[in-house]
Amino acid sequence: MDADVIIIGHGLAGATLAWSLHWRGWRVKVIDRDETVTSSKVAAGIVTPISGKRVARGWRIDEFLPAARDFYARTESELGSAFYHPLPYVRMLQTDDERRRWREKKGEPEFQRLLTQPQPAPILDHRLFHAPETGLEVRSAWLDVRAWLAASQRFLKQRGNWITGEVPAGDISLTAEAVCVGGLTARYLVLCQGWEAAKNPFFPWLKWKSAKGEILSFQAPKLTEHRIVNLGGWILPTGKRSLFRTGSTYKWDDFSNLPTAAARKTIESRLHRALKVPFTITGHEAAVRPIINESKAVLGLHPVHQRLGFFNGLGSKGVLHAPFFATRFAALLTERVPLDYEVDVCRN
Ligand SMILES: Cc1cc2nc3c(=O)[nH]c(=O)nc-3n(C[C@H](O)[C@H](O)[C@H](O)COP(=O)(O)OP(=O)(O)OC[C@H]3O[C@@H](n4cnc5c(N)ncnc54)[C@H](O)[C@@H]3O)c2cc1C
Repeated sequence: MDADVIIIGHGLAGATLAWSLHWRGWRVKVIDRDETVTSSKVAAGIVTPISGKRVARGWRIDEFLPAARDFYARTESELGSAFYHPLPYVRMLQTDDERRRWREKKGEPEFQRLLTQPQPAPILDHRLFHAPETGLEVRSAWLDVRAWLAASQRFLKQRGNWITGEVPAGDISLTAEAVCVGGLTARYLVLCQGWEAAKNPFFPWLKWKSAKGEILSFQAPKLTEHRIVNLGGWILPTGKRSLFRTGSTYKWDDFSNLPTAAARKTIESRLHRALKVPFTITGHEAAVRPIINESKAVLGLHPVHQRLGFFNGLGSKGVLHAPFFATRFAALLTERVPLDYEVDVCRN
């Protein structure tokens, strides 16, 4: 056998699974097209512990946050560089309903745990932002996903475990004992293809609801804000030369990676409403988020082809959810530890 596992796709799903299996001593080969634009490479990489109009705590946030922090820290120590940047996240409350919900929740210990202490007052500098008075600041982080994936790719290449290429579904052959992909054999094959897995014939029962998203980059030398700020849309300081990213949009019927004038207008108008300082747009990117189970991951082994795995559906939470579920998937493959019912590909 050439490997224990072949992984197709090196986005957040494939890369986190490759690391989890590597740490368990399994031999992994990764095949990826190495495209410039993918969902993971375009992503802002923000971890959002409290989100939505209901001002809700993220799903299983107390488990996922420490898992993500420890996972990326371990990769950083092997890769010799920092990619996961802890940063406070300021969420401004735009409507009466959001403010009412927050008044009801904010005393609860599980919300208090997520807040930075003490909360700044005022939350935002009104010389920089047009903003409502009420908001909250939570402990958060962002992953420089593009840089992290590039470093992970170099790590795999140096060990001869990276193959650049396209794998058509017809090139996959499966038996009870092994898988064969483009001349390579392994004990398992795991498909981590992002939204394009909807096109392959192996998991036809999954109900895909993938969404295109677009992001702008801009320069604003007078914007002296170092936290992630959410004023309806989010603004992320990259820490480089007054450069920020802002977004994003959701479109459910366009699966191209082409930036559109309509999305640019939406995001730019939002930025004009939020900022009191001048800015210049410097970039515009688009990609498709793979969504199956409302941004909850979907993973596991095929019910018939027990050598074929699937890890996908990370939606808009890839950075936060991928490390936890990649670790679970590795435990399934190496020790037969069962997966959580709600994310198992056989039950979605
Ligand atoms: C605009 C936007 C903003 C986002 N912001 C955030 C954010 O702030 N925080 C967050 O957590 N998430 C964010 N996301 C979501 C996040 O990007 C996804 O959850 C994540 O990228 C999904 O990763 P993946 O590995 O499943 O898919 P992908 O990143 O799409 O990776 C799939 C890989 O498989 C390869 N591939 C596919 N088919 C084949 C084949 N047949 N042969 C070889 N290779 C193949 C592709 O080339 C690609 O490299 C954002 C997404 C978008 C679009």
